[in-house]
Amino acid sequence: MKWLVEELYAPIHQALRIDVSIHHGRSDFQQIDIFENAVLGKVLALDGVIQTTERDEHVYHEMLTHVPIMAHGAVKHVLIIGGGDGGMLEEVLKHPVESATMVEIDGEVVSLSRQHLPSICGQAFDDPRADVIIGDGAAFMRESDKRFDVIIVDSSDPIGPAEVLFRQEFYAACRARLTPGGVLVTQNGVVFYQQDEVLGTHRCFRNVFQKHGFYFAAVPMYVGGNMAFGWASDALDLLAIDRDALNGRWEKAGITTDYYNPDIHAASMACPSALKRRLEQGV
Ligand code: SAM
Repeated sequence: MKWLVEELYAPIHQALRIDVSIHHGRSDFQQIDIFENAVLGKVLALDGVIQTTERDEHVYHEMLTHVPIMAHGAVKHVLIIGGGDGGMLEEVLKHPVESATMVEIDGEVVSLSRQHLPSICGQAFDDPRADVIIGDGAAFMRESDKRFDVIIVDSSDPIGPAEVLFRQEFYAACRARLTPGGVLVTQNGVVFYQQDEVLGTHRCFRNVFQKHGFYFAAVPMYVGGNMAFGWASDALDLLAIDRDALNGRWEKAGITTDYYNPDIHAASMACPSALKRRLEQGV
């Protein structure tokens, strides 16, 4: 029996049994594996790192879309950086947005996801509001003149092509592309193992944005407990939640989810004490 052994953390590995191998190949950017696992359903891994699974993708995609979109309340234009599996795009398009632009560096991730992961991307790639651009997200941010109400960084971890998406100049470029009241949200790693990622983003956000912070959710296959989602804006404060407004917006949205709801939204903003101290100390 073959296994995918994720070695994201040198002293701690995670092994997934490959029950049926669907794709195993190298693109111009990375090793791409798609396979079936008896518990997780289909799994996408890039350079041996688990990106998404049918079984738990909803937690991650719902939290990085509905939280900023519901907090904003009048989103028309969304930008996704990364997101090649299409799960984020599908969740965004459940809202009455006018456009959803997705900039993914590896076209093979998109084509393989369309072919093998329809339960994750649905019909998102065929939605007339979707604009899928194959290219580097950092270059797009430097060159684009478009403005977005929500920018979602749905990138792999800061190794390889995604490393540029965790730098202050990238966040500053995102800020320049936000509409007034717009908000940036980021995939910011599992706090227990990748706290340096959280602190690094905090130091960058602190230098670029007026308001910023993190919210949290446990995504089972991002092993190690709660994942941190960074948020940053010059006007919108994700901690200032008007529960009546949030409940009303969510009821009006009429979206069926498996994880997100207004209670989860509010609870996700709670920051563990030790991390709170380190963020306040700015270390
Ligand atoms: N949920 C995953 C996680 O939390 O790690 C992310 C999933 S998604 C598949 C990550 C995508 O980011 C990949 O398809 C990868 O090709 C893309 N990516 C990495 N670096 C990028 C860059 N500089 N510009 C655009 N897309 C990038």
